[in-house]
Amino acid sequence: MKLFFASHNLDKKREIEYIVSSEKLTVLYIDDFPKYPEVEETGSTLEENAVIKAVEGFNFTGLETFAEDTGLFVEAIGGEPGIYAARYAGENATYSDNCVKLLEKLEKVPSEKRRAYFKTVVAFKTRESIKFFTGICEGYISDKPAGSSGFGYDPIFIPDGYNKTFAELNKEVKNEISHRARAVKEFSDFLKKSIGA
Ligand code: IMP
Repeated sequence: MKLFFASHNLDKKREIEYIVSSEKLTVLYIDDFPKYPEVEETGSTLEENAVIKAVEGFNFTGLETFAEDTGLFVEAIGGEPGIYAARYAGENATYSDNCVKLLEKLEKVPSEKRRAYFKTVVAFKTRESIKFFTGICEGYISDKPAGSSGFGYDPIFIPDGYNKTFAELNKEVKNEISHRARAVKEFSDFLKKSIGA
């Protein structure tokens, strides 16, 4: 079975390649479609943004398409950065700019109040329907960045059960317990059940 993963984000692509492993599935990526358009994420929920990306992918490639949207929700500041995680420090913000902004916001917040979670919603668009799969990873925000693996907020996120950031843990660990891994696992279980992939 051939599927398309609709994302311009190479870091997400790397993780998806690692997580999805089935001989019966061939996943195509945006690099396989050189003229693939930029898609504006205009939704106000993770679900809406995941659907926008999945539908665009389905329409452009004609393939059954999955896409995901991920947010980081920090309790002490009302769930910021939330669905705006990519643009937290401004329109062209780097991963590092976003981490710095979040650490500044939490400067006076003690470690026990730095609870946070990542949430990923995968939308799977076929000719007949759209299905959703969700993954959550809980933890807390560290005092300072550490580690160089992963991407985004990984250097400042410590998952529950560990005392290292995602960026310090190796990719095997992140891709076992992360929000994205959990959502994609639910999605692959669904594919296994429905089409034996
Ligand atoms: P989006 O799903 O493309 O809107 O991504 C939102 C932003 O969340 C990304 O630009 C990253 O900064 C951050 N992000 C998404 N997934 C992860 C992750 O697995 N670890 C750390 N940061 C992430």
